Amino acid sequence: MTTELHPTPSRSGRSDRRFLIIGAGMSGLLSAIKLKEAGQGDFTIYEKADRLGGTWRENTYPGIACDVPSHFYSYSFAPNPDWSHRFSPGSEIQAYFEAMARRYGVDSRIQFGKEVTRCAFENGRWRIETADGSTDVGDFVIAATGVLHHPAYPKLEGLGCFEGAVFHSARWNHGVSLAGKRVGVVGTGSSAIQIVSALVDPVAELTLFQRTAQWIMPSANPAYSQEEKAEFRQHPEAMQAIRAEVSRAFTQGFANVLVDAESPVLQAIHAACVANLENSVKDPELREQLRPNYRATCKRLIMSADFYDAIQRPNAKLVTQAIERVEKSGVRTRDGRLHELDVLVLATGFRVDRFVRPMQVIGRSGAALDDVWKHGPFAYLAISVPDFPNFFMLNGPNGPVGNFSLIDVAELQLAYILQLVEQVRSGACDEVCASREAMERFDAERKRAASRTIWASGCKSWYLDDQGLPTAWPWTFDRFREEMSTPRLEDYELR
Ligand code: NAP
Repeated sequence: MTTELHPTPSRSGRSDRRFLIIGAGMSGLLSAIKLKEAGQGDFTIYEKADRLGGTWRENTYPGIACDVPSHFYSYSFAPNPDWSHRFSPGSEIQAYFEAMARRYGVDSRIQFGKEVTRCAFENGRWRIETADGSTDVGDFVIAATGVLHHPAYPKLEGLGCFEGAVFHSARWNHGVSLAGKRVGVVGTGSSAIQIVSALVDPVAELTLFQRTAQWIMPSANPAYSQEEKAEFRQHPEAMQAIRAEVSRAFTQGFANVLVDAESPVLQAIHAACVANLENSVKDPELREQLRPNYRATCKRLIMSADFYDAIQRPNAKLVTQAIERVEKSGVRTRDGRLHELDVLVLATGFRVDRFVRPMQVIGRSGAALDDVWKHGPFAYLAISVPDFPNFFMLNGPNGPVGNFSLIDVAELQLAYILQLVEQVRSGACDEVCASREAMERFDAERKRAASRTIWASGCKSWYLDDQGLPTAWPWTFDRFREEMSTPRLEDYELR
């Protein structure tokens, strides 16, 4: 139920409010574009790097693409007729965001090289400090700081002794030539699978160190023809039709069913993955090594048309023995074998519990968000934390993550946030944040629902917290959309 507020304007009610947006990735740019469109022109985007793009700036590994179809992984208000493929490569996505920042005139509002290190609610406003000593004050903070942005480095004994090149998948060293080299890849997540498929041809030998096998969903990636692109340009509604269809399929056939481990749709997805393995991998021993011992979609589902082909090439090798240590010339596995390498790629994922951290965020009671989150990050509806008024997160903790478009998620969240902002702008209050009661209720319900999801069905993944409980939105995407349509103001503290 939604409460309508008919407020008496607060003493300080003003419509000219200043917004501090942190991060110039997909969701920070979105915030700027939408604020500008809404006539809220007083904002600055603070970006730690020297270029916009977030994930797509940082991840440049060979083979990088988004496994969400491009016509869905675009802003809903800015379809792109020029996507080259159904799943376009990362460089095109980066170029798309750069073009959007220019097209909507928000590129000039980005302060590059400004890492926000501290963010404190003082005297009713947010004061930020950046690493280079600048400060700014604003009424609202929109933390668009990303989810998967702090690389997780494995604690492998001897890693520092390796004499070849070693780097994380999200810190690709393009100065290292790979042609004709012996390359090792640690990890079998989405990043590693794309890297292996792209590298197997140019390198001399490719060794994949697998700790856990992954289910792979076959997924073709056709290119759009010139005629199709011309059609998209002439008839943008054709792109919207694709978007609507993909959105429907993702929502009904995927996002909505992940939260019910008993769903027959998940059984069908599992069967498709099993068939892909059976039909694609000829050698029975390799096939068994590649067969996961948990249900498909328990870990994030991997889409690939070519991984099984790549790993069966004569120059590819799958290693399932645990890594004992790294030595000067390669990786020694627990069976005593040394796998000699020139380059070692750590496709070992991200520290997913960081969110806005390491930025220090101090709320109105003087409490640090880091302390408030000492048992793990949380946010009411993934957006607001009690006692941190006028501080809103995009793609924050407990939100929907998984195989669907985080752009869609951010657009829904931003529209919701702007409704909360309106409470302050209209003078209904000066400060808005989730109430403690709403937060506690949300968290209790979330935890109950989490145990019924497929992510809790018996595998390890980055979806789980320290207690092994999934942290992601545990209800359907339809419910998320519904929740995001209008804030329930009774769940907020309006001061
Ligand atoms: P990830 O899914 O977290 O995978 C990390 C891999 O490294 C896992 O296979 C893990 O093994 C392995 N690993 C970690 N530490 C290890 C150690 N000490 N020894 C051996 N193996 C170790 O990371 P990611 O592949 O970078 O993907 C993260 C997320 O990014 C994805 O789930 C997805 O949401 C997103 N992503 C999306 C796309 C896309 O196309 N849209 C592409 C890439 C990434 P275990 O499984 O045993 O833990």
